[in-house]
Amino acid sequence: MRVHEFQGRQLLAEAGVPVPTGGVATTVAEAVQAAEGVFASGSSIAVVKAQVHAGGRGKAGFVKVCRSVEEARTAAEFMLSNRMVSPQTPPEGLQVNRLLVASGVDIAKEFYAAVLTDRGTRRNVLIASAEGGVDIEHVAATRPEAILKQPLDPVVGLQPWAARRMAFQLGFRGKAVNQATDILLRLARTFVEKDATLAEINPLVLTPATPEHPDGQVIAIDAKFTFDDNALFRQKAIAAFFDPAEENPAEIRANEFGLSYVALDGSIGCLVNGAGLAMSTMDIVKLHGGEPANFLDVGGSASEEAVTEAFRIILSDSRVKGVLVNIFGGIMQCDRIARAIIASAKTVGFRVPLVVRLEGTNVKEARALLEAARGDIPTMQTATDLTDAARRIVAAVGEA
Ligand code: GDP
Ligand code: MN
Repeated sequence: MRVHEFQGRQLLAEAGVPVPTGGVATTVAEAVQAAEGVFASGSSIAVVKAQVHAGGRGKAGFVKVCRSVEEARTAAEFMLSNRMVSPQTPPEGLQVNRLLVASGVDIAKEFYAAVLTDRGTRRNVLIASAEGGVDIEHVAATRPEAILKQPLDPVVGLQPWAARRMAFQLGFRGKAVNQATDILLRLARTFVEKDATLAEINPLVLTPATPEHPDGQVIAIDAKFTFDDNALFRQKAIAAFFDPAEENPAEIRANEFGLSYVALDGSIGCLVNGAGLAMSTMDIVKLHGGEPANFLDVGGSASEEAVTEAFRIILSDSRVKGVLVNIFGGIMQCDRIARAIIASAKTVGFRVPLVVRLEGTNVKEARALLEAARGDIPTMQTATDLTDAARRIVAAVGEA
């Protein structure tokens, strides 16, 4: 599960990482009010930041450093009335519903710090770079040696000596060494304690030297966290961060019916039982030149209502030009699928080609039901096996 930056900042602050204060706004008026608060607190900079579950905001113009309330108003108006397009969003971009208006800081240097799980070494790993900021992907791709890695001990986690060595390697000096060390340790601890799959600060900044802080201050000004969905049952506070506005509505609806559904970009809607069969169905569709519009596993025990809902979800996707049903009835009874197809034909309607391949428990009864209903489902073809089914649906949508 992904969360917003303002929620990530809250976690960092609770963990004792220095983070500038800020407020969340959903309207221009609220953003203006928050900016007034920032300037009244003595800060000379207010940053206005789109809160969406995608990065690349800085380059897209959805992070604005403002020196006056009027600049903050203009930034908020722009962000709330334009969709944000970045390499991390769909081509049509994302609607921005929320803004973070926070105290800004002057920056001497930007660093990158993250903790994630490295499957290769089967360890959590701290990744850091002295070249943080909006070009970190480019740095990682062209100069991998600029990315430092420190594996974490599975039992004790990040050890203070390792964090300190990393702080030195990153180039921190004087009092900033202790600050950076402390932040890295707190980041690593938060990653484990909160069952995160990614805990990233980019940029972690060093502020310019001042008489009060001759070595500068180390501060987190962005926070990106993702969490293990399977751990949310024991992370109630994290689970409460869930923002349905940021998720695919069809995926949420499927979840409510106990269906595993992932939207994809192709044109062939797939309704399958079992994750393994769903994967192989997608493979065979691709093998025959088609592109799946989704992954959908209805599971073994889905009710007729849930399967009907699955058809409704598939058919409500305007990209779907054909539907392939591939069921191997073990626990799932084929006649339940057949009844759901017939019910969906009545309530939703199959305007697009439908290819059905059924095998297994109660298949005879299922075939008889579909045969009897053929007149009501003119776009339906039945297939004898998986290859036949894939060929038929790809031919029907005209992709091969
Ligand atoms: P992202 O592009 O979505 O990762 O958004 P970030 O929060 O990382 O902001 C992008 C960039 O905006 C940062 O790398 C900074 O260069 C700049 N920025 C963000 N906050 C501040 C701030 O408080 N002061 C200054 N001077 N620059 C900032
Ligand atoms: Mn960032």
